[in-house]
Amino acid sequence: MIKVKNLNFQYKTADAPTLYGLNFEVAKGEILGFLGPSGAGKSTTQNILIGMLKNYAGNIEIMGKELNQWGKDFYEHIGVSFELPNHFLKLTARENLQHFSSLYSGKKHDVMEVLSWVGLAEDADKKTSDYSKGMKIRLNVARSLVHQPKILFLDEPTSGLDPVNAAKIKNLVFNLRDQGTTIFITTHNMTLADQMCDRVAFVTNGKLRAIDKPSDFKKQYGKRFVDVEYIGVAKKPTIANFSLDDLGQNSDFFKLLNSGQQIETIHSQETTLENVFIELTGQELMA
Ligand code: ADP
Ligand code: MG
Repeated sequence: MIKVKNLNFQYKTADAPTLYGLNFEVAKGEILGFLGPSGAGKSTTQNILIGMLKNYAGNIEIMGKELNQWGKDFYEHIGVSFELPNHFLKLTARENLQHFSSLYSGKKHDVMEVLSWVGLAEDADKKTSDYSKGMKIRLNVARSLVHQPKILFLDEPTSGLDPVNAAKIKNLVFNLRDQGTTIFITTHNMTLADQMCDRVAFVTNGKLRAIDKPSDFKKQYGKRFVDVEYIGVAKKPTIANFSLDDLGQNSDFFKLLNSGQQIETIHSQETTLENVFIELTGQELMA
């Protein structure tokens, strides 16, 4: 659905490029996560893909057509949730959605149904000026999908959301994906990206450093160890670690378990996506 080849971009006012030669594709019904610290170029990439920032170099093909060949009907097929919500503050959430829905010609979702998906049904008739930041973000997500787009672009859709509401967005994204929607999502929330994305791209300083399935990243870079914490000499808690490979043949492991010393905990050490990110890019993701 999206094919990006050698994408370069520089803001007119900037003295250096923001994006350097990005290459990636997103398949139909795939959730691709764009992950990276603040300033990496995630929003810039999204804004190029939705046709908002022109003057990029490289090739972008969306739904089989060069992006710069698409006319206004492009917006019938894509849905966009921007990083910073912009709603009509004097209108209620229901009125906001009804307004946006009326701008599209195709098949649309029921406004109240969409509000219930993002947990805003009860607040549908409140003015959005009275909405919290998290509610505005959820309304943003609702707005992006009311016209049943084929591709959904979500910029930081869970930022500022509590775990319950973040989970609502996650489930909503899964449901849409299962119905065949293609989803491009930018975030710096590694835990959620790990749970939500079919593949993730690591982006730092305008470059795409690696792209893979979260599980493959973790398999490739994860330590395979088991940590055994026990009460050792002089009653001091002590940790021993053993390789998971051939653990069944590891006599030291069994010796410890049978030593009569009190075992406190046993944990296998799986790496997190965040650890892989740090290892691969040398950068931390500040939340
Ligand atoms: P992210 O979404 O990953 O946090 P952005 O794409 O927003 O990153 O920003 C990438 C870089 O481009 C940053 O250095 C930012 O300062 C710069 N930038 C973003 N918007 C503009 C703009 N309108 N004009 C000039 N520079 C910009
Ligand atoms: Mg951003």
